[in-house]
Amino acid sequence: MGLVYEPVDLEREAFEDLRGFIEKLLSKPAPGSAGRTGAWRLYRPAVDAGRCIKCGICWLYCPDDVISWAPKGLPIIDYSYCKGCGICSSVCPVKAIDMVLEGE
Ligand code: SF4
Ligand code: SF4
Repeated sequence: MGLVYEPVDLEREAFEDLRGFIEKLLSKPAPGSAGRTGAWRLYRPAVDAGRCIKCGICWLYCPDDVISWAPKGLPIIDYSYCKGCGICSSVCPVKAIDMVLEGE
């Protein structure tokens, strides 16, 4: 029985290290004295899945850490805590996030 060669994906390992480091710096959204902060929102970020290039920049910049994202995946926004600040929409390089008035 011979050895099986498994190539090491250095780029992915470096990314996972960076991701772990960033996640340690971020606080996680949770109900506080103000309740679920998503109720404050006037505009809701809506991701256009067809336009999104799955780069994760919105996940990186969301000040409330309410965007979940896995490499090569679509971002998922937790609307219970998203305040609708629009930063994700501003930083998206392909304009795949529209800010839509709540109720529309
Ligand atoms: S609108 Fe603001 S709080 Fe909501 S997902 Fe985008 S960056 Fe985060
Ligand atoms: S920044 Fe834009 S393109 Fe990148 S993952 Fe977020 S929605 Fe998709």
